Amino acid sequence: MRIVLATRNRGKVSELQALLSDLGLEIISMDQAGDLPEIIEDGLTFQDNATKKAMEVARATGLMAIADDSGLEVDALGGRPGVFSARYAGENASDEENYLKLLQEMEGIDSDQRTARFRCVMVACTPEGECVVSHGTCEGSITTEPRGSQGFGYDPVFVPAGDRRTMAELTRQEKNRISHRGKALEALKKKLEDFIRRFQSHGHSKKHQA
Ligand code: IMP
Repeated sequence: MRIVLATRNRGKVSELQALLSDLGLEIISMDQAGDLPEIIEDGLTFQDNATKKAMEVARATGLMAIADDSGLEVDALGGRPGVFSARYAGENASDEENYLKLLQEMEGIDSDQRTARFRCVMVACTPEGECVVSHGTCEGSITTEPRGSQGFGYDPVFVPAGDRRTMAELTRQEKNRISHRGKALEALKKKLEDFIRRFQSHGHSKKHQA
């Protein structure tokens, strides 16, 4: 059975392919699924955005679609940057511009007040709009200076709980084990087998698999 991942990010596609390999699914990216409309992420929550992406891609392709949305929530900032994580310092801001803005905003905040978490929501939807949702979080705190060169986004300024290294100082495997995305994926995988069985029993996979 083919599933479209509602992203143009090749890294995410291969990550998902690896994690779901034992379910015998063919995961394709939006690029491989043909011409699809651009999706505007204007939701107020991660779940709104992920659901919108999965629904629109499923409807446009006639295949089951999986989407995720994620970001960083800082307690001292009332949960910001949240859904604005990717564009915190402006529409086309770089990762560095975003985390430097965050550090600047947090100047003078004591270390015990610097708690934060990465959050990820994953949603799988059928073309009829039936969806299943999973969540993952990674608790930690914000540093006062960036450290490390692995990963992306806010990794250089985020120290996961129980570690002294930033996320950008962990190997890819270490990060995957504890990350919000890894946890959300594991949770989705648990729900997916049953969801797909129900989807297939409605006769869709036969219609769209040719
Ligand atoms: P998206 O879910 O891929 O759109 O990611 C939204 C934004 O959240 C990214 O551009 C990053 O700024 C931030 N983010 C999400 N996941 C991570 C992560 O694992 N490390 C660092 N930053 C992340």
